Amino acid sequence: MKLVLASNNAKKLAELQALFAPLGLELVTQGSLGIAEAEEPYQTFVENALAKARHAARCSGLPALADDSGLAVDALGGMPGVLSARYATLFGQPKSDADNNRVLLEQLQQRGAVLPRARFVCALAAVRSADDPEPLIAMGRWEGQILGAPQGEAGFGYDPLMFIPALQQSVAQLGAEQKNRLSHRALAAVSLQQQFKEVWQLG
Ligand code: IMP
Repeated sequence: MKLVLASNNAKKLAELQALFAPLGLELVTQGSLGIAEAEEPYQTFVENALAKARHAARCSGLPALADDSGLAVDALGGMPGVLSARYATLFGQPKSDADNNRVLLEQLQQRGAVLPRARFVCALAAVRSADDPEPLIAMGRWEGQILGAPQGEAGFGYDPLMFIPALQQSVAQLGAEQKNRLSHRALAAVSLQQQFKEVWQLG
């Protein structure tokens, strides 16, 4: 079965492709079909994921899958949250992983927050059509603490700043296979996989 992925993030595509390969799902990005990115106007990951999935299904005529994810830091009242991808732009900085990480460290330093608790959150939404009245929704969370400086080179986004106490490593120091077993996206994908089997009768 072919599913349109409502994201052009190559790293997300690779992670999700690996996670759903066992079900025989083929993911194609909406960008490869010439579909523009949807607005993400909502305050929750779930609402944004569903809006993105419906948009991709509407434009492609195919079933669609969307991931909306981000980092929630307790000391920042849950920020950057749904604004994770463009956090730096809130402070007049360019939109890039390096700028987002630098701004996050500045904000935490200003508050004197040392190794504050944080979690990666992922919402996955899948729809069979744009107006699907029974979308599949799955959530995953991955708890950690924010380091005072980046560590590691792998992954993307806030991975170099996210320290996992149980592993004594940042997410950017983990191998792709290890991240794909433990991450917020992996946990959400396991839950969605179950729903694909039960509700969409896949696999
Ligand atoms: P989205 O594309 O609107 O869902 O934004 C996701 C943003 O959240 C990314 O650009 C990253 O900044 C952050 N993010 C989500 N998942 C991860 C992850 O696995 N590692 C690091 N950062 C992540």
